[in-house]
Amino acid sequence: MPLVSMRQLLDEAAKGGYGVGAFNVNNMEQIQAIMEAARETRSPVIVQASRGARSYSQDRFLYHLMLAATELYPEIPTVLHLDHGNSVETCKSAIEMGFTSVMMDGSLMPDGKTPSTFQYNVKATREVVEIAHAKGVTVEGEIGCLGGIEDGHGAGLDGLSHLTDPEQAVEFVKLTGLDALAIAIGTSHGAYKFTKKPTGETLKMERLMEIHRRLPHVHLVMHGSSSVPKDLQDIINQYGGKLKPTWGVPVEEIQLGIRNGVRKINVDTDNRLAITGAIRKVFFEKPEEFDPRSYLKPAREAMKKVVALRMTQFGQAGHAGDYAPVSLEEMAHRYHEPVAV
Ligand SMILES: [Zn+2]
Repeated sequence: MPLVSMRQLLDEAAKGGYGVGAFNVNNMEQIQAIMEAARETRSPVIVQASRGARSYSQDRFLYHLMLAATELYPEIPTVLHLDHGNSVETCKSAIEMGFTSVMMDGSLMPDGKTPSTFQYNVKATREVVEIAHAKGVTVEGEIGCLGGIEDGHGAGLDGLSHLTDPEQAVEFVKLTGLDALAIAIGTSHGAYKFTKKPTGETLKMERLMEIHRRLPHVHLVMHGSSSVPKDLQDIINQYGGKLKPTWGVPVEEIQLGIRNGVRKINVDTDNRLAITGAIRKVFFEKPEEFDPRSYLKPAREAMKKVVALRMTQFGQAGHAGDYAPVSLEEMAHRYHEPVAV
């Protein structure tokens, strides 16, 4: 099946009461790891590429790898999503290339660092919604700012500086007509999210529930939601790495989010840790090896395991065959003439 719209995946997830992991990729091995995990767990998948990933991979390579994924895994509904588009132009170029979903992150200015105004965010997001929906492509927006910096993107704040204001979120959804809303509830991008296991003081699940109460039909997105498990940190440090102690978002908090309207969960760091740990282990144990396959194969396998586990924990496992994919043309038609509910 061709790449499908993210809106359809999230609508189905809402019906089924589960969440869908969105995993970042830069290369072939990561795409293969995700697709193998999806097949093993029979999960629909969201594969996402940031601006950094698009430039690292020359995005045409990435796009064609994703087409190969749809040919090799025809039973898996697969979305290709742009993570943190910084401008209308960036989103446009992704749509033209064939991405079936884009994030317009207007919470920051196009420099990807400076927090923007509400008015700017509404205008940029609305513009992307008009362009995307005409082609049946899904749009994710963001209100509030996450902490941290990843791939040069982020205000570098701590996670609590620009939490999402629930009232503003309602206004934002109404004015933009977007499909999915990323909210800031205390999480940060990167590995160093929390200096101890997060509590209600640092991870604002109450805020999320309040937003869901006010916007019960909007698909919420949790960014910066790697769990940064201790065992993956330990493997890296055991084989010569130097990670400082750190905590991510506990899986049970994500599951609480899923019970409260979260449909898309962004995970990158956990996969990076799994890959690096596996590679370090081979380098340490077999220093005579020099065939890249000798360490990329275990790296791919380690990432597959983490992804399959998250797919099971988020509840998307077993749902790949639930529905027939709707074409982007049909999605465009639906946006044009909303079906009365
Ligand atoms: Zn993010």
